Amino acid sequence: MTCARCGAEYEGKKRRWCADCEVGYDGWVRQYATDMIAPVLGAMVVVVTCAVGLPLLGVPTLVAVAGALGGFATLAGLTQLNIRRRRKQFRLAVPPRAYLPAKT
Ligand SMILES: [Zn+2]
Repeated sequence: MTCARCGAEYEGKKRRWCADCEVGYDGWVRQYATDMIAPVLGAMVVVVTCAVGLPLLGVPTLVAVAGALGGFATLAGLTQLNIRRRRKQFRLAVPPRAYLPAKT
């Protein structure tokens, strides 16, 4: 297959990028480790509002359970959006010249 980022040929069908690009992404994305803060805060708001706040107002317990699940879904969804955004950002960045395939 052809790498979607650098255009190099590689074997394997599970990944869209070659191994070098995946390794480069793993190192590059570490500078954005604080991306996890926003999904955690968002999930916390959903859990506190739905699973803790609403039962105090007399809403049935089933809503509290749904609120806890909604908080987890918020965490998972926002994390996936962040991952997709960072992978796109890395893919569109110009790779270093050493990673570009040699022209023949
Ligand atoms: Zn690549």
